[in-house]
Amino acid sequence: GVEISHLSKSFGSHLVLDDISMSVEPGSVTALIGPSGSGKSTLLRCVNLLETPDAGTVTVGSQTITAGQPVKDRDLLALRRQVGMVFQSFNLFPHFSVLRNVAFPQERVLGRSREEAEARALTLLERVGLKEKAHQHPARCSGGQQQRIAIARALALEPSAMLFDEPTSALDPEVGVEVLAVMRELASAGMTMIVVTHEMQFAREVGDHLVVMADGRIIEEGVPAEIMAAPKEERTRRFLSAVL
Ligand code: ATP
Ligand code: MG
Repeated sequence: GVEISHLSKSFGSHLVLDDISMSVEPGSVTALIGPSGSGKSTLLRCVNLLETPDAGTVTVGSQTITAGQPVKDRDLLALRRQVGMVFQSFNLFPHFSVLRNVAFPQERVLGRSREEAEARALTLLERVGLKEKAHQHPARCSGGQQQRIAIARALALEPSAMLFDEPTSALDPEVGVEVLAVMRELASAGMTMIVVTHEMQFAREVGDHLVVMADGRIIEEGVPAEIMAAPKEERTRRFLSAVL
């Protein structure tokens, strides 16, 4: 699972995350919602240490990082390796084939042979429904296909948790659906996931837990359907009425 404890982060004098604690059980899905600027992306970036937290701890699997304590490169890499991240933009290597996009990080990060990495890449491309695209370039794929390739690439490193930051918000609804289907399959296969999304139907059906952020704090959390039916906080109510 993922354990976030008393996490704080400022940019200059702007406190962006204010004492966030959150526990994601192994194999569960947490949906994270909240208005623009509430700190959702920063929180995900702190979990895989793309940002350095000012205070608190982050635990992923067996790896714990405590803010303010010196971190060995080895521990940093070990934690990052446990966390797969998928962003709104896919960031695929444009000059690589789809297959190489999924194989290359395995060779670099896990030291797999090219043969082994490509075999594993093909299996994952099949899982996301894109085996037939293996030898094309990403530019020849739709946005939804590129996002599924990005998911396969992250899975190829065998993370113990996956973080998604609005993975469908740059996509047309028709292709967003294909991406959500892959995420749904991943959730039922038991992947631990934190998903920032405005797809409320997905959050309700796939999410085990819903966390609502505003101004760098968690203002409400619980069972998704219950919060959506009867939000306790006025700010949750306002946010939901804007996205539902
Ligand atoms: P959105 O829904 O628009 O994606 P968010 O909830 O993901 O918003 P964040 O991107 O985490 O919000 O940003 C939270 C706050 O931190 C914002 O006020 C943002 O301007 C600020 N911020 C984020 N990254 C940086 C940075 N690198 N330097 C300075 N300020 C930053
Ligand atoms: Mg964001």
